[in-house]
Amino acid sequence: MGDNENLSMAASEVGKELSSPYNQLPHKLMPDKSFGSDINQVYRLLFETAAESLLIVDKEGLIQLVNFRTNEMFGYDGKELIGKPMEILLPDKYRKEHVGHRDSYTKHPKRRSMGMGMDLWGKRKDGTEFPVEVSLNHFEANDKLFVMGLVTDITERRKAEDNIRKLNEELENRVEKRTQELEESQKLYKIVARNFPDGTINVFDKDLNYVFVEGMELFKYGVTSEKLVGTSYLSRLPEEVRDFMKEKLTEVFDGRNNSTFEVSVKDRHYSMNVVALHNIDGDIEQILLVERDSTQQKKSEEEMQKTLEKERQLNELKSRFVSMASHEFRTPLGAILSSTSLIEEYLVRKDSTMDFVREKSERHIKRIKSSIGNLISILNDFLSLEKLEQGKVESSPALFSLTEFSKELIEDMQPTLKKGQRIEYTHKGEGNDEVFIDQQMFRNVIFNLLSNASKYSPEDSLIEFCAVNVSNGIEVSITDHGMGIPEDDKTHLFERFFRAKNATNVQGTGLGLNIVKRYVDLMDGNISFITKEGEGTTFKISVQNIKS
Ligand code: ADP
Repeated sequence: MGDNENLSMAASEVGKELSSPYNQLPHKLMPDKSFGSDINQVYRLLFETAAESLLIVDKEGLIQLVNFRTNEMFGYDGKELIGKPMEILLPDKYRKEHVGHRDSYTKHPKRRSMGMGMDLWGKRKDGTEFPVEVSLNHFEANDKLFVMGLVTDITERRKAEDNIRKLNEELENRVEKRTQELEESQKLYKIVARNFPDGTINVFDKDLNYVFVEGMELFKYGVTSEKLVGTSYLSRLPEEVRDFMKEKLTEVFDGRNNSTFEVSVKDRHYSMNVVALHNIDGDIEQILLVERDSTQQKKSEEEMQKTLEKERQLNELKSRFVSMASHEFRTPLGAILSSTSLIEEYLVRKDSTMDFVREKSERHIKRIKSSIGNLISILNDFLSLEKLEQGKVESSPALFSLTEFSKELIEDMQPTLKKGQRIEYTHKGEGNDEVFIDQQMFRNVIFNLLSNASKYSPEDSLIEFCAVNVSNGIEVSITDHGMGIPEDDKTHLFERFFRAKNATNVQGTGLGLNIVKRYVDLMDGNISFITKEGEGTTFKISVQNIKS
């Protein structure tokens, strides 16, 4: 204790009474002469006013000297700490251990920081603890070892560090959460894009290379997005649309406009939507192309269009028929009315003999029958046409003998022929006369052509009905020697309601040949005609005759 007395004092007394340890400092650290004899005073002030806690302990760990800051930091007054074991400044739990550390330090003293990488704690007089940082050094005075400690209260730094750590953790958590959210939304976008139906969603760079591509269409073509990214879009396209697509996409890159257009390749149609993707500077570095196979949609639209058109035509047909019928029905109905009136008159006439009445009535009954026949044929034509328009008619072929069929038909036609007209049937060609076609359809066709041949030819003329077996089918021609068809009217002959200008005085609707043509089409056959005005007409039909 005796030797220590030289050092044992509070900082305020440093320099006043102590000639050492400052006198013991190495020469190069000795202060400049300008401080004169007040040098000790300078050291004292330095020691006392140091912003950090300074304390000097002896080899046994007893506190020899403390500065003002030490007292302030640990909550002591004046010389309270002097002579106390320095462990008083440590939390209880570290004290015992510290004595060991201190001993080993005094055996091999050197300048160093204390407890590197460890949390060091100080304890105030009131028992509260606070984090500290300690640097150690040693010196000898009067042949004794002293250890000097520089203690910094790092409560604020710790708080700041804790704050920073907390902030960092929060930030990291937020970044992690955001990354997760981004990954989730990216996953979602990818799933949405991958399931984009009948097409692809594409992003291209300026060279029109894929940056992104997904969509159901990729599965169809057996390619993966990974394989396409980085490759050229244009090189995947069929050559015929390459230039067009390049122009369209480049336009969007040039900022001219976003565009929507259609591209057709062979029998497939694609609808394209191109949108510029602006970066944060507003420049267009990428474009988005949404490509969609619209073939099905287009087909449906066309179907709908066709149905609407059919509907429209059917309506038009009906209204034209009504106006035509009101006109065409007048003549036969008028004839029927006048014939029945005349028959009635003959019956009530007083001078009528039985023979007279019979003779006159027969003529009028024939007229009535023919007029009714006309009305029926007009109605039949219309009904056939309506069925055809509605797509309700189908060809159902059957095997039958053409000769028998023709003979029956000619027989049925006899009452409708003009006076003295004859139908002559011939069958040429090898093989038997059996045909495999839709009989009802074929009957309608031949009946129509024979009726026209009769209608547009004079009395006593010959109508030639000729069937020829050809390879794979038959050819049927019907030739008359009637009025023929004017050159100008030939091109319109199969049009609905069309009537040649030389036929206005003959009763008709202009529907028959249209129906004939459509039946022939349904039988996969062909119809043609040769005609000369004033000389006559030949209609020729060829149908395949393959029995399946
Ligand atoms: P319709 O006989 O009721 O007028 P069609 O459609 O059968 O109607 O015939 C259309 C037109 O073609 C007829 O109006 C007539 O001008 C002409 N035509 C058809 N067949 C003959 C024929 N054998 N000779 C002369 N003209 C014909």
